[in-house]
Amino acid sequence: MTNDALHSSSARHRAPEPVRTCVGCRSRELAAGLLRVVAVDGALVPDPRRRLPGRGAWVHPRPECLDRAERRSAFPRALRVPGPLDSAEVRIHLGQQEGAGTAPAPSFTEDKVDPS
Ligand SMILES: [Zn+2]
Repeated sequence: MTNDALHSSSARHRAPEPVRTCVGCRSRELAAGLLRVVAVDGALVPDPRRRLPGRGAWVHPRPECLDRAERRSAFPRALRVPGPLDSAEVRIHLGQQEGAGTAPAPSFTEDKVDPS
């Protein structure tokens, strides 16, 4: 048993971010850049804090990705539930985010330096 990790400074702590696939555009994205959605009683419920139990689907917080996912029935498939799901709550959630104006650009800090 070692508690050294807990004791050491967390100032430079950089855990690798989990990557998920958007069910709308099918592109891979850091989980932090996607909205988690779960199915509750036949309706899609946004889960921005990722606390709701059960299987979750991940989608970019953009109307076009939500539309794409709905058109191809990606949510029922990803969430393993039968039938269509009511996405009204997710739409409202996205609508609330839109008013903020410019979305923060994704920051890519990946350096591919060839050590030659
Ligand atoms: Zn997407």
